[in-house]
Amino acid sequence: MSGIQETRLEIDLNALAENYALLSKNLSPKTKMMGVVKAFAYGTDPIVIGKKLVELGAEFLAVAYIEEGVSLRKAGIKVPILVFYPQLKELNKLVEFNLTPSVYNIHFLDGLRCELKSSEILNFPIHLKINTGLNRLGFEFDQLQEISEIIKDAETIKLSGLFSHLAASGNLDEVEFTKTQISKFKEAKTFFEDRFPNQFISHICNSSGIINYPEAEFDMVRAGIALYGYGNNPKEHQMLKPVASLKTIIAQLRHIQIGDSVGYERKFKATTASKIATLPLGYADGISRIFGNGNSEVLINGKTAPIVGNVCMDTLMVDVTGIDCDEGDEVEIFGKNHSVLKFDKAKQTIPYEIITRISQRVTRYFI
Ligand SMILES: *Cc1c(COP(=O)(O)O)cnc(C)c1O
Repeated sequence: MSGIQETRLEIDLNALAENYALLSKNLSPKTKMMGVVKAFAYGTDPIVIGKKLVELGAEFLAVAYIEEGVSLRKAGIKVPILVFYPQLKELNKLVEFNLTPSVYNIHFLDGLRCELKSSEILNFPIHLKINTGLNRLGFEFDQLQEISEIIKDAETIKLSGLFSHLAASGNLDEVEFTKTQISKFKEAKTFFEDRFPNQFISHICNSSGIINYPEAEFDMVRAGIALYGYGNNPKEHQMLKPVASLKTIIAQLRHIQIGDSVGYERKFKATTASKIATLPLGYADGISRIFGNGNSEVLINGKTAPIVGNVCMDTLMVDVTGIDCDEGDEVEIFGKNHSVLKFDKAKQTIPYEIITRISQRVTRYFI
C-alpha cells in the first residue's frame, strides 16, 4: 500500500527550508544564522542537514563535540564551526580541522594555548562563553578582568566571539529572568568591546530566544530545535514543520480475546476482544520503554493507536481495534502528520529528547 518496507526516518529538506525562512524572517539582514547540528543534527543527519543549512544561508554551524565537527569538515563543509563542549583530549583535532572552540574556563584556555604554541599557530579564533544564569558552563563576571588580560597577552588566540545561553527562553513565565540574562550579557559585551573593539561577534539566542526575544539577536543567533520543527511551547510548535518522520509498517496483525495478554511481563490484558499490530521497532531504535503501556500513540491510516504492553528491544505492539488496517500498512510513529507532542501523549519528555534518540540503526531517507 505505502511503498515503505522497513522502519525508516524520512527527513524533509523542504520543511527544514521553511523553518529556516520562518526564523530568518524577522532578523536584521546583518544578523548571522548559526545552524546547530549537534547530536546527528537532532537525530537526523548532520552532513546532509549541515550542507543544506549552509545553502540556505547559515554562516556558521555548531556541534557539541570536536569529533562531530571533524566529520563535517571531512564531508567538505567549510564554514566556521563552533564546538560548544570541546574536550582537552582532542585539542589537536580541533586545531587541525580549524574548529572554533567555546572557551568557558581557564583550564581549557591554558590547554588550548599550549597546543597552539606547539603548532606555531597565531590568532586562532575562540568564542568566550559567559554564564548569565544557566549555571552550566561559562565564565563568571568576577573572572572577566582576568580572562580579558590573558587573551590580550596571548598571541596564539583571538577573541572572535562572545556568547551566553538562555535558561528558559521558551517559558513565558520566566520573561523577567530571561531579560536579566540578556542585560547581563550586554554588560559583558560592553566590557569586552572596551578592550577588544570591533573584533568579535556576540550571540545569546537559541530557537526560542529568536522567536520570543527579537531584541536580543545581537550579531548572530543559534537555531537548533526550531529548524527541526519543534519549539518549547504550543505557540512555537504551531508555526513550525516537523522535519523528521519516523515510519514503519505493520509486521503482523492478530486478534486476541478477553483475558489474553500482550508482550513481556503480560503488562497488557485485553478487557474486550482486540486487534493487535506488531511493529518492527523498539527501544533499540530509540522508542524508550517509557512510551509503553498506553503512554503514547502512533498513527495508522489516519487513526491513532496506543502502544500496549511493554516496548521490546526490536518490536512494540499497538492496539488497532476498530482501525481498518492490514499487514504491511504504513505506520507513522511521529512526524509530519503526527507530531512528537501527539506521540508523547502522557507528556513524559520533550521533543529534543525524543528526536535525538532515534538510533543509528534506523535508515535515513531524504525527501
Ligand atoms: C543546543 C544549543 C543551542 C540550540 O538550542 P535550541 O533550543 O535547540 O535552539 C544553542 N546554544 C547552545 C549553547 C546549545 O547547547
